[in-house]
Amino acid sequence: MIKENLAIVEDNIRKACEKAGRERSEVTLIAVSKTKPVSDIRQAMECGITVFGENKVQEIRDKTAEIKEPLSWHMIGHLQVNKVKYLPGVACMIHSVDNLKLAQEIEKQSAKHDLVMDVLIEVNMAHEDTKFGLSPQEVIPFVKEISSYEHLNIRGLMTIAPYTEDPESNREYFKGLKGLKDEINALNIPRVKMDTLSMGMTGDYQVAIEEGATFVRVGTGIFGERDYANIK
Ligand SMILES: *Cc1c(COP(=O)(O)O)cnc(C)c1O
Repeated sequence: MIKENLAIVEDNIRKACEKAGRERSEVTLIAVSKTKPVSDIRQAMECGITVFGENKVQEIRDKTAEIKEPLSWHMIGHLQVNKVKYLPGVACMIHSVDNLKLAQEIEKQSAKHDLVMDVLIEVNMAHEDTKFGLSPQEVIPFVKEISSYEHLNIRGLMTIAPYTEDPESNREYFKGLKGLKDEINALNIPRVKMDTLSMGMTGDYQVAIEEGATFVRVGTGIFGERDYANIK
């Protein structure tokens, strides 16, 4: 099942890249394994997947304790300040930076571990009340404010687009996120050179790729429906 799903996702990614005139190598598939057992992750690993996404700190810690192979783990979910301390050395990138306290804590904990953490700024492109993330107009002042943090590498922007049956309806948000990234790069803020756009999930990753995604985060499309009862 996972193997067949991955073949479909890979095929869709290739087609979207082709349509957009992009190289397949410009897009990284993050297999979102939240709520899924280690056995599922191992199946994906057997198919060559090495990049995984989780949205809970405890779950990343449990899974990385169990799976010792060298993989890239991305923290893609909302992050509480008091849990940041568990991530340096465990997660290679945090996609969900959306407030100053969180950025300060990532700076502090990364410094403690003597490493520089790759981070993305989460943007709530559709202004949904139910979602985390900065509104688009808050992003530039925020990036300027945290640009001097020496243990943060602000790699780019992330968005979670609205849930929809029609992926085309999210195209404007993906376009908007790309535009915001380009605008920030044009400002030449010291230490800030964005090369990453994390956008697109099972329902809309092809459209996101057409609009410039460099990371797509696909869960259901690879592992099937989630059962949240599996999570403590
Ligand atoms: C769960 C999740 C995904 C994957 O969602 P699917 O629709 O199952 O592909 C992507 N990004 C984030 C931030 C998530 O929490």
